[in-house]
Amino acid sequence: MTLRTIVTLPDPVLRRKARPVSSFDKNLQTLIDDMIETMRQAPGVGLAAPQVGMSDRLIVVEYAEQPEDDEDEATASAQAGSQVAPPRKEVKPKLYVIANPEIVKTSGEMVTGVEGCLSIPGLVGEVERYTMVQVKGQNRRGQPMKVKAEGWLARIFQHEIDHVNGVVFPDRALRVWKPEPEEVEKLA
Ligand code: ZN
Repeated sequence: MTLRTIVTLPDPVLRRKARPVSSFDKNLQTLIDDMIETMRQAPGVGLAAPQVGMSDRLIVVEYAEQPEDDEDEATASAQAGSQVAPPRKEVKPKLYVIANPEIVKTSGEMVTGVEGCLSIPGLVGEVERYTMVQVKGQNRRGQPMKVKAEGWLARIFQHEIDHVNGVVFPDRALRVWKPEPEEVEKLA
């Protein structure tokens, strides 16, 4: 695996509608592995092929969704007299590789959140996204797949699928600004 260079605005590849993936050959497998490594090293929670200069409809996403019952468990441990903060339940990040991703269903509801982008260093923005999306596409072997995502994971998918359509978050942002260091934890 090789680390690829993440391209940044104003590189025109980020503004192009990427071409469909039609061949799931060795080159594609190499690109996928390189994208995963590049995303992890950045670090980021998602990466689209145009962000490494390849105009292909291909995204990788890796994100650990926090279970909702975390808070209850923390409270229960505190009540049991534990001096030590309970270990946060280890949630293994889940890796998604999707070729030709397409949003086929969305929630009616939208929510605003602060997003950053590996291709737009030094800026974050407040962006409205659907709280749930269903994404259809193909896995790395070319087999059809479908995934339903909620919350932050749904936001990451919308952000990455925008990338393969030449759209970047400032296009959708209600406002953009230069962030404080603690505001830039989740980049895609
Ligand atoms: Zn991005």
